[in-house]
Amino acid sequence: MSMCEPCKEQQEKTRRGTPHENLVEIDDRRLFRGAHARRYEEQDYRCLVCSSQFTWSSNRNDLAWTLWQK
Ligand SMILES: [Zn+2]
Repeated sequence: MSMCEPCKEQQEKTRRGTPHENLVEIDDRRLFRGAHARRYEEQDYRCLVCSSQFTWSSNRNDLAWTLWQK
């Protein structure tokens, strides 16, 4: 199944971009401690429409939404 339009747009969103309405959280939010005690978080999402899966990360300022490669 091809990616739905909101998911295509999701890939372009930055850290402050919110998940579109058909993206649901899967698993718990993960907290990491990076270099120099910088902490960041990641959260996985799945689309109810096209089943695309994303990981959101606060470690990146732009394009914070990463599409899972299948
Ligand atoms: Zn979708």
